[in-house]
Amino acid sequence: MNVYDSARMADVLAPLGYRPVQDPEGADLVILNTCHIREKAAEKVYSELGRIDRLKRARRAEGAGMLLAVAGCVAQAEGEEILRRAPQVDLVFGPQSYHRLPELVARCAGREGAGGIVDTDFPVESKFDFLPEEAADPGPAAFLSVQEGCDKFCSFCVVPYTRGAEYSRPAADVLAEAERLVAAGALEITLLGQNVNAYHGAGPDGEGWGLARLIRGLDDIEGLERIRYTTSHPLDMDEALIEAHRREAKLMPYLHLPVQSGSDRILAAMNRRHRADDYRRIVERLRAARPDIALSSDFIVGFPGESDADFAETLRLATDVGYAQAYSFKYSPRPGTPAAALEGQVPEAVKAERLAMLQELLNAQQEAFNRASVGRVMAVLLERRGRRPGQLVGRSPYMQAVHVAAPDDLLGGVVEVTVTEAHPNSVRAAPVTAGPETAWSEERVCA
Ligand code: SAH
Ligand code: SF4
Repeated sequence: MNVYDSARMADVLAPLGYRPVQDPEGADLVILNTCHIREKAAEKVYSELGRIDRLKRARRAEGAGMLLAVAGCVAQAEGEEILRRAPQVDLVFGPQSYHRLPELVARCAGREGAGGIVDTDFPVESKFDFLPEEAADPGPAAFLSVQEGCDKFCSFCVVPYTRGAEYSRPAADVLAEAERLVAAGALEITLLGQNVNAYHGAGPDGEGWGLARLIRGLDDIEGLERIRYTTSHPLDMDEALIEAHRREAKLMPYLHLPVQSGSDRILAAMNRRHRADDYRRIVERLRAARPDIALSSDFIVGFPGESDADFAETLRLATDVGYAQAYSFKYSPRPGTPAAALEGQVPEAVKAERLAMLQELLNAQQEAFNRASVGRVMAVLLERRGRRPGQLVGRSPYMQAVHVAAPDDLLGGVVEVTVTEAHPNSVRAAPVTAGPETAWSEERVCA
């Protein structure tokens, strides 16, 4: 979502004459768009600020200025504290107020030495009603925010405090943005939300639209080939959405469905409001609807009170489900969240040991999934050039990174490939060759 937000910030700033550059060196304005989800991400902000301060000083020595801003969830959570720890910062603003950037940047001008500005109030208006149309090239695989914020209050999580209350954009706005992205060249759209499957936007027909209905609307857009959505909560995985995986041709057979833990006791302490078996049942229903669906998840190890037996339940759940890929994290106590104040905080060494065990299992599952794709033909959206000459990199329907030997003019397109080799984090594939009349015969690929 920060990638999406950063692109929209660029759109907001474009009319003021700002354009994105590759490097902060020599920039007139540097915005650090930050993440507060775990301590490590939040602390990284301060080391980055030190590095950028050196660039700012160098620029000042040349007689030019550099505005330095901190955006995103660290800005929202820490506000004034950022200015205390990093007085070189000119502007601090939260994830819901970046539509006000022109006004905020104008207020910064001429304040040299007067201290930074903090804007972390949640605005009454939705930023989406004030953002200009997207100006930046979306590329072949685009992001589109449809829902933001969260009302679930899992006991470990800062999101409800930093992103605010749950909000769904009206379906007509989403569909219009999707149409524009496709007209600008996007073939794939990933719908984004902290709790994207809780989406309940106003529909153009006067009805409330859930995510399944929204996906059906997107399915009708000509030129759009692939639809994905992330991140989902198991509680909001309703029948209509599961059915969408059976029915909607453009919906990719991949789902990131975080479970966090396999222990009912820990799930309750996390306030996830479902049991491990509820999750297993959802997975069964999804697989009944779409047998080849690839699953991904998030796990937290070392939540306060997690015993060896609880952790064993997590390993058991991961083994039962069998993931195509997954993310796992050591529990990180976040200021202001209920779990941070719980007794039974798990020692760092135990967290590290459990993380290593879980990751070993998840990595083996990912490798097995990749191995099982060898010999299969699949459609890959080629998104970028690879490191080797003549190599393009794309995503399979199952979100695997796929390396393909293919000519540059296929970049940005969907091509059929046969998977030839499996690696831990990717697969290699060769184009499926047809007759000479096809746009890209084997000869051209070899050339
Ligand atoms: N809305 C999604 C998750 C958003 S946060 C959901 O409900 O599943 C992304 C992931 O970060 C979470 O799934 C969780 O695994 C991890 N995470 C969040 N807070 C964390 C914390 N305090 N410590 C460790 N990991 C955390
Ligand atoms: Fe955080 Fe997700 Fe729980 Fe919301 S549902 S509080 S975003 S982990």
